[in-house]
Amino acid sequence: MNILSLGFNYLKILTFCLFLVSIPAQAQDDLANVVILATGGTIAGSGKSSTASASYEPATVGVDALIEAVPELVELANIRGEQVFQIPSQDYTNERLMQLGRRVSELVKSDDVDGIVVTHGTDTMEETGYFLNLVINTDKPIVMVGAMRPGTAISADGALNLFNGVALAASESSRGKGVLITLNDEIHTSRDASKSINIRTNAFVSPWGTLGMVVERKAYWFRAPVKRHTSGSEFNIDSIDELANVQVVYAHGNMDDSVYREHQRNGAVAIIHAGTGNGSVTSHIKPTVIDISKSGIHVIRSSRVMQGGFVIRNASEQDDENRWVVSHDLNPQKARILAAVALTQPRSVEELQRIFWEY
Ligand code: ASP
Repeated sequence: MNILSLGFNYLKILTFCLFLVSIPAQAQDDLANVVILATGGTIAGSGKSSTASASYEPATVGVDALIEAVPELVELANIRGEQVFQIPSQDYTNERLMQLGRRVSELVKSDDVDGIVVTHGTDTMEETGYFLNLVINTDKPIVMVGAMRPGTAISADGALNLFNGVALAASESSRGKGVLITLNDEIHTSRDASKSINIRTNAFVSPWGTLGMVVERKAYWFRAPVKRHTSGSEFNIDSIDELANVQVVYAHGNMDDSVYREHQRNGAVAIIHAGTGNGSVTSHIKPTVIDISKSGIHVIRSSRVMQGGFVIRNASEQDDENRWVVSHDLNPQKARILAAVALTQPRSVEELQRIFWEY
Protein backbone atom coordinates (compact mmCIF):
# COMPACT_ATOMS: atom_id res chain seq x y z
CA MET A 1 0.00 0.00 0.00
CA ASN A 2 1.60 3.35 -1.00
CA ILE A 3 1.53 6.48 1.15
CA LEU A 4 -1.13 8.09 -1.03
CA SER A 5 -3.66 5.26 -0.69
CA LEU A 6 -2.89 5.03 3.05
CA GLY A 7 -3.71 8.73 3.43
CA PHE A 8 -6.86 8.31 1.37
CA ASN A 9 -8.06 5.42 3.55
CA TYR A 10 -7.50 7.47 6.71
CA LEU A 11 -9.48 10.29 5.15
CA LYS A 12 -12.34 7.92 4.33
CA ILE A 13 -12.40 6.60 7.91
CA LEU A 14 -12.29 10.14 9.32
CA THR A 15 -15.14 11.28 7.06
CA PHE A 16 -17.17 8.24 8.08
CA CYS A 17 -16.57 8.92 11.81
CA LEU A 18 -17.60 12.57 11.42
CA PHE A 19 -20.74 11.39 9.60
CA LEU A 20 -21.55 9.03 12.48
CA VAL A 21 -21.01 11.67 15.14
CA SER A 22 -23.05 14.31 13.36
CA ILE A 23 -26.15 12.27 12.42
CA PRO A 24 -27.73 11.51 15.81
CA ALA A 25 -27.55 15.17 16.81
CA GLN A 26 -29.77 16.36 13.99
CA ALA A 27 -32.94 14.38 13.35
CA GLN A 28 -33.85 14.35 9.70
CA ASP A 29 -37.40 15.43 9.00
CA ASP A 30 -37.85 13.06 6.09
CA LEU A 31 -37.01 10.01 8.22
CA ALA A 32 -39.26 8.18 10.66
CA ASN A 33 -38.42 8.29 14.37
CA VAL A 34 -37.79 4.80 15.66
CA VAL A 35 -37.09 3.82 19.27
CA ILE A 36 -35.08 0.66 19.91
CA LEU A 37 -35.98 -0.94 23.24
CA ALA A 38 -33.21 -3.37 24.17
CA THR A 39 -33.97 -6.22 26.53
CA GLY A 40 -31.05 -8.69 26.17
CA GLY A 41 -30.93 -12.11 24.52
CA THR A 42 -28.40 -13.50 22.06
CA ILE A 43 -28.54 -10.39 19.89
CA ALA A 44 -26.83 -8.72 22.86
CA GLY A 45 -24.66 -11.77 23.56
CA SER A 46 -20.90 -12.22 23.35
CA GLY A 47 -18.62 -15.25 23.14
CA LYS A 48 -14.96 -15.84 23.93
CA SER A 49 -13.96 -16.25 20.28
CA SER A 50 -15.33 -15.68 16.82
CA THR A 51 -16.00 -19.40 16.42
CA ALA A 52 -18.14 -19.58 19.57
CA SER A 53 -21.48 -19.45 17.77
CA ALA A 54 -23.40 -21.62 20.25
CA SER A 55 -21.41 -21.23 23.52
CA TYR A 56 -21.65 -17.65 24.69
CA GLU A 57 -23.24 -15.41 27.24
CA PRO A 58 -26.51 -13.72 26.25
CA ALA A 59 -27.48 -10.21 27.40
CA THR A 60 -24.06 -8.56 27.79
CA VAL A 61 -23.97 -5.80 25.13
CA GLY A 62 -25.79 -2.52 25.79
CA VAL A 63 -28.20 -0.75 23.46
CA ASP A 64 -25.71 1.95 22.41
CA ALA A 65 -23.20 -0.64 21.26
CA LEU A 66 -25.92 -2.54 19.39
CA ILE A 67 -26.85 0.62 17.51
CA GLU A 68 -23.23 1.63 16.85
CA ALA A 69 -22.54 -1.80 15.38
CA VAL A 70 -24.98 -1.06 12.53
CA PRO A 71 -24.06 2.43 11.26
CA GLU A 72 -26.39 1.96 8.28
CA LEU A 73 -29.38 2.42 10.63
CA VAL A 74 -29.07 6.19 10.29
CA GLU A 75 -30.04 5.85 6.63
CA LEU A 76 -33.36 4.29 7.66
CA ALA A 77 -34.61 6.34 10.60
CA ASN A 78 -33.81 8.75 13.38
CA ILE A 79 -32.84 6.25 16.07
CA ARG A 80 -33.07 6.47 19.83
CA GLY A 81 -32.12 3.58 22.12
CA GLU A 82 -33.34 2.59 25.59
CA GLN A 83 -32.19 -0.29 27.76
CA VAL A 84 -35.31 -1.76 29.36
CA PHE A 85 -33.75 -5.00 30.65
CA GLN A 86 -30.57 -6.96 30.10
CA ILE A 87 -31.86 -10.51 30.48
CA PRO A 88 -32.03 -13.86 28.70
CA SER A 89 -35.61 -14.21 27.54
CA GLN A 90 -36.41 -17.32 29.58
CA ASP A 91 -36.62 -14.85 32.49
CA TYR A 92 -39.72 -12.96 31.35
CA THR A 93 -42.03 -13.03 34.33
CA ASN A 94 -45.53 -11.55 34.10
CA GLU A 95 -44.18 -8.46 35.88
CA ARG A 96 -41.47 -7.95 33.24
CA LEU A 97 -43.99 -8.40 30.44
CA MET A 98 -46.10 -5.69 32.04
CA GLN A 99 -43.10 -3.37 32.54
CA LEU A 100 -42.05 -3.66 28.89
CA GLY A 101 -45.66 -3.33 27.71
CA ARG A 102 -46.21 -0.16 29.73
CA ARG A 103 -43.11 1.44 28.22
CA VAL A 104 -44.20 0.51 24.68
CA SER A 105 -47.66 1.89 25.41
CA GLU A 106 -46.21 5.22 26.59
CA LEU A 107 -43.96 5.51 23.55
CA VAL A 108 -46.59 4.76 20.91
CA LYS A 109 -48.74 7.59 22.32
CA SER A 110 -45.95 10.07 21.67
CA ASP A 111 -46.18 12.15 18.48
CA ASP A 112 -42.44 11.98 17.92
CA VAL A 113 -42.37 8.17 17.81
CA ASP A 114 -43.30 6.50 14.52
CA GLY A 115 -42.23 2.95 15.24
CA ILE A 116 -40.68 0.68 17.84
CA VAL A 117 -38.13 -2.12 17.65
CA VAL A 118 -37.76 -4.47 20.61
CA THR A 119 -34.52 -6.46 20.71
CA HIS A 120 -35.23 -9.66 22.61
CA GLY A 121 -34.01 -13.21 23.21
CA THR A 122 -35.49 -15.61 20.72
CA ASP A 123 -36.56 -18.21 23.31
CA THR A 124 -39.72 -16.38 24.36
CA MET A 125 -39.95 -13.69 21.69
CA GLU A 126 -43.13 -15.31 20.39
CA GLU A 127 -44.78 -14.82 23.79
CA THR A 128 -43.70 -11.22 24.36
CA GLY A 129 -44.56 -10.30 20.76
CA TYR A 130 -48.01 -11.90 21.08
CA PHE A 131 -48.57 -10.18 24.42
CA LEU A 132 -47.83 -6.75 22.91
CA ASN A 133 -50.01 -7.69 19.92
CA LEU A 134 -52.93 -8.16 22.34
CA VAL A 135 -52.56 -5.19 24.66
CA ILE A 136 -50.98 -2.24 22.79
CA ASN A 137 -53.73 -0.25 21.08
CA THR A 138 -51.89 1.31 18.18
CA ASP A 139 -51.41 1.12 14.43
CA LYS A 140 -47.76 2.13 14.69
CA PRO A 141 -45.30 -0.61 13.75
CA ILE A 142 -43.83 -2.64 16.61
CA VAL A 143 -41.16 -5.10 15.52
CA MET A 144 -39.46 -7.82 17.56
CA VAL A 145 -35.87 -8.60 16.60
CA GLY A 146 -33.37 -11.16 17.87
CA ALA A 147 -30.47 -13.29 16.73
CA MET A 148 -29.41 -16.91 16.77
CA ARG A 149 -25.67 -16.11 16.95
CA PRO A 150 -23.97 -13.63 19.27
CA GLY A 151 -22.52 -10.49 17.69
CA THR A 152 -18.96 -11.78 18.30
CA ALA A 153 -19.44 -14.85 16.08
CA ILE A 154 -18.47 -15.26 12.44
CA SER A 155 -21.54 -14.65 10.31
CA ALA A 156 -23.55 -13.24 13.22
CA ASP A 157 -27.14 -12.61 12.17
CA GLY A 158 -28.10 -9.86 14.65
CA ALA A 159 -26.86 -6.86 12.65
CA LEU A 160 -28.94 -7.61 9.55
CA ASN A 161 -31.94 -8.60 11.67
CA LEU A 162 -31.72 -5.24 13.48
CA PHE A 163 -31.35 -3.40 10.17
CA ASN A 164 -34.42 -5.20 8.82
CA GLY A 165 -36.33 -4.54 12.04
CA VAL A 166 -35.67 -0.80 11.84
CA ALA A 167 -36.55 -0.79 8.14
CA LEU A 168 -39.91 -2.37 9.02
CA ALA A 169 -40.55 -0.09 12.00
CA ALA A 170 -39.85 2.95 9.80
CA SER A 171 -42.08 1.78 6.97
CA GLU A 172 -45.64 3.07 6.47
CA SER A 173 -46.42 -0.32 4.95
CA SER A 174 -46.04 -2.01 8.36
CA ARG A 175 -48.77 0.09 9.98
CA GLY A 176 -51.85 -1.75 11.20
CA LYS A 177 -50.32 -5.22 10.81
CA GLY A 178 -49.89 -5.90 14.51
CA VAL A 179 -46.67 -6.78 16.27
CA LEU A 180 -44.18 -8.30 13.84
CA ILE A 181 -41.16 -10.57 14.24
CA THR A 182 -38.28 -10.44 11.80
CA LEU A 183 -35.31 -12.81 11.58
CA ASN A 184 -33.66 -14.40 8.58
CA ASP A 185 -35.17 -11.72 6.26
CA GLU A 186 -38.67 -13.05 6.95
CA ILE A 187 -41.61 -11.08 8.35
CA HIS A 188 -43.89 -13.00 10.69
CA THR A 189 -46.92 -12.00 12.69
CA SER A 190 -46.05 -12.46 16.35
CA ARG A 191 -49.36 -14.29 16.74
CA ASP A 192 -48.31 -17.18 14.52
CA ALA A 193 -44.53 -17.35 14.69
CA SER A 194 -42.93 -19.86 16.99
CA LYS A 195 -39.31 -20.77 17.69
CA SER A 196 -39.14 -24.17 16.05
CA ILE A 197 -35.44 -25.00 16.12
CA ASN A 198 -32.72 -23.62 18.37
CA ILE A 199 -29.61 -24.15 16.27
CA ARG A 200 -30.44 -22.56 12.92
CA THR A 201 -30.77 -18.94 11.85
CA ASN A 202 -34.19 -19.78 10.35
CA ALA A 203 -35.45 -20.57 13.83
CA PHE A 204 -38.96 -19.16 13.44
CA VAL A 205 -41.81 -20.83 11.63
CA SER A 206 -45.36 -19.58 11.15
CA PRO A 207 -47.61 -22.58 10.56
CA TRP A 208 -49.87 -20.65 8.18
CA GLY A 209 -47.01 -18.89 6.36
CA THR A 210 -44.93 -15.74 6.75
CA LEU A 211 -46.39 -12.31 6.03
CA GLY A 212 -43.54 -11.31 3.76
CA MET A 213 -39.85 -10.64 3.31
CA VAL A 214 -37.50 -7.72 3.92
CA VAL A 215 -34.93 -7.41 1.16
CA GLU A 216 -32.42 -4.56 0.97
CA ARG A 217 -34.49 -2.42 3.37
CA LYS A 218 -37.77 -2.87 1.47
CA ALA A 219 -40.71 -4.86 2.83
CA TYR A 220 -42.50 -7.19 0.40
CA TRP A 221 -45.89 -8.29 1.78
CA PHE A 222 -47.82 -11.38 0.75
CA ARG A 223 -50.57 -11.61 3.39
CA ALA A 224 -51.95 -9.82 6.44
CA PRO A 225 -53.15 -11.08 9.83
CA VAL A 226 -56.90 -11.60 10.17
CA LYS A 227 -57.11 -12.25 13.92
CA ARG A 228 -57.82 -9.27 16.20
CA HIS A 229 -54.75 -7.36 17.35
CA THR A 230 -53.36 -4.01 18.58
CA SER A 231 -55.82 -1.22 17.67
CA GLY A 232 -58.56 -3.81 17.05
CA SER A 233 -58.07 -5.54 20.40
CA GLU A 234 -60.51 -5.32 23.31
CA PHE A 235 -57.55 -5.53 25.72
CA ASN A 236 -55.51 -2.51 26.75
CA ILE A 237 -52.44 -2.56 28.93
CA ASP A 238 -53.46 0.76 30.48
CA SER A 239 -56.34 -0.94 32.25
CA ILE A 240 -54.44 -4.04 33.39
CA ASP A 241 -52.82 -4.08 36.86
CA GLU A 242 -51.57 -7.63 36.96
CA LEU A 243 -51.63 -10.58 34.56
CA ALA A 244 -53.45 -13.73 35.66
CA ASN A 245 -51.60 -16.77 36.98
CA VAL A 246 -51.91 -19.31 34.16
CA GLN A 247 -49.80 -22.48 34.13
CA VAL A 248 -49.01 -25.10 31.49
CA VAL A 249 -49.07 -28.88 32.02
CA TYR A 250 -47.23 -30.98 29.44
CA ALA A 251 -49.03 -34.26 28.74
CA HIS A 252 -47.75 -37.76 27.99
CA GLY A 253 -49.09 -41.28 28.34
CA ASN A 254 -47.45 -42.01 31.68
CA MET A 255 -48.20 -38.67 33.37
CA ASP A 256 -49.66 -38.41 36.84
CA ASP A 257 -51.96 -35.70 38.11
CA SER A 258 -49.58 -34.19 40.68
CA VAL A 259 -48.67 -31.12 38.62
CA TYR A 260 -52.36 -30.34 38.08
CA ARG A 261 -53.02 -30.58 41.79
CA GLU A 262 -49.97 -28.45 42.63
CA HIS A 263 -51.07 -25.65 40.31
CA GLN A 264 -54.55 -25.84 41.85
CA ARG A 265 -53.06 -25.45 45.34
CA ASN A 266 -50.90 -22.54 44.16
CA GLY A 267 -53.87 -20.54 42.91
CA ALA A 268 -53.71 -20.87 39.12
CA VAL A 269 -56.84 -19.40 37.50
CA ALA A 270 -56.34 -21.44 34.34
CA ILE A 271 -54.27 -24.42 33.25
CA ILE A 272 -53.21 -24.97 29.67
CA HIS A 273 -53.28 -28.68 28.92
CA ALA A 274 -50.46 -29.23 26.37
CA GLY A 275 -52.04 -32.43 25.15
CA THR A 276 -51.05 -34.91 22.49
CA GLY A 277 -52.36 -34.49 18.92
CA ASN A 278 -55.75 -32.79 19.10
CA GLY A 279 -54.99 -31.67 22.67
CA SER A 280 -56.06 -35.05 24.01
CA VAL A 281 -56.31 -35.71 27.74
CA THR A 282 -54.61 -38.90 28.96
CA SER A 283 -57.43 -41.23 30.07
CA HIS A 284 -56.25 -41.99 33.61
CA ILE A 285 -55.93 -38.29 34.59
CA LYS A 286 -59.28 -37.28 33.07
CA PRO A 287 -61.15 -37.43 36.41
CA THR A 288 -58.64 -34.96 37.87
CA VAL A 289 -58.91 -32.59 34.91
CA ILE A 290 -62.73 -32.66 35.11
CA ASP A 291 -62.53 -32.02 38.84
CA ILE A 292 -60.13 -29.11 38.27
CA SER A 293 -62.59 -27.36 35.95
CA LYS A 294 -65.47 -28.04 38.36
CA SER A 295 -63.43 -26.25 41.04
CA GLY A 296 -63.57 -23.06 38.92
CA ILE A 297 -60.15 -23.24 37.24
CA HIS A 298 -60.37 -22.92 33.46
CA VAL A 299 -58.90 -25.89 31.58
CA ILE A 300 -57.73 -24.91 28.11
CA ARG A 301 -56.82 -27.74 25.76
CA SER A 302 -53.88 -26.98 23.49
CA SER A 303 -51.56 -29.27 21.54
CA ARG A 304 -47.92 -30.15 22.05
CA VAL A 305 -47.59 -30.78 18.27
CA MET A 306 -44.67 -28.58 17.25
CA GLN A 307 -45.62 -26.85 14.04
CA GLY A 308 -49.28 -26.12 14.19
CA GLY A 309 -51.37 -28.03 16.67
CA PHE A 310 -54.99 -27.33 15.74
CA VAL A 311 -57.43 -28.30 18.45
CA ILE A 312 -61.00 -29.10 17.41
CA ARG A 313 -63.73 -28.62 19.96
CA ASN A 314 -65.81 -31.69 20.92
CA ALA A 315 -63.93 -33.93 18.47
CA SER A 316 -62.10 -36.45 20.66
CA GLU A 317 -62.92 -34.81 24.01
CA GLN A 318 -66.28 -33.78 25.48
CA ASP A 319 -65.54 -30.07 25.83
CA ASP A 320 -69.15 -28.90 26.22
CA GLU A 321 -69.88 -31.50 28.87
CA ASN A 322 -66.59 -30.98 30.77
CA ARG A 323 -66.71 -27.17 30.49
CA TRP A 324 -63.31 -27.02 28.78
CA VAL A 325 -61.98 -24.39 26.38
CA VAL A 326 -59.86 -25.17 23.30
CA SER A 327 -56.91 -23.02 22.29
CA HIS A 328 -57.79 -23.17 18.57
CA ASP A 329 -54.36 -23.14 16.85
CA LEU A 330 -52.43 -21.37 19.62
CA ASN A 331 -49.54 -23.41 20.98
CA PRO A 332 -49.39 -23.88 24.78
CA GLN A 333 -47.06 -20.92 25.44
CA LYS A 334 -49.17 -18.52 23.38
CA ALA A 335 -52.37 -19.89 24.93
CA ARG A 336 -50.90 -19.03 28.32
CA ILE A 337 -50.37 -15.41 27.23
CA LEU A 338 -53.90 -15.00 25.86
CA ALA A 339 -55.44 -16.55 28.99
CA ALA A 340 -53.23 -14.43 31.28
CA VAL A 341 -54.53 -11.30 29.54
CA ALA A 342 -58.17 -12.41 29.17
CA LEU A 343 -58.47 -13.62 32.77
CA THR A 344 -57.48 -10.30 34.29
CA GLN A 345 -61.23 -10.31 34.86
CA PRO A 346 -63.56 -13.27 35.52
CA ARG A 347 -64.88 -14.94 32.35
CA SER A 348 -67.39 -17.68 31.63
CA VAL A 349 -66.22 -20.68 29.60
CA GLU A 350 -68.24 -19.34 26.64
CA GLU A 351 -66.63 -15.90 26.86
CA LEU A 352 -63.12 -17.33 27.13
CA GLN A 353 -63.79 -19.63 24.16
CA ARG A 354 -64.96 -16.66 22.10
CA ILE A 355 -61.69 -14.90 22.90
CA PHE A 356 -59.69 -17.95 21.78
CA TRP A 357 -61.53 -18.01 18.44
CA GLU A 358 -61.04 -14.28 17.84
CA TYR A 359 -57.40 -13.70 18.81
N1 ASP B 1 -31.47 -17.92 25.51
C1 ASP B 1 -31.45 -16.80 24.59
C2 ASP B 1 -32.62 -15.89 24.95
O1 ASP B 1 -33.72 -16.17 24.60
C3 ASP B 1 -31.57 -17.28 23.21
C4 ASP B 1 -31.65 -16.22 22.16
O2 ASP B 1 -31.71 -15.04 22.37
O3 ASP B 1 -31.66 -16.63 20.99
O4 ASP B 1 -32.38 -14.91 25.58
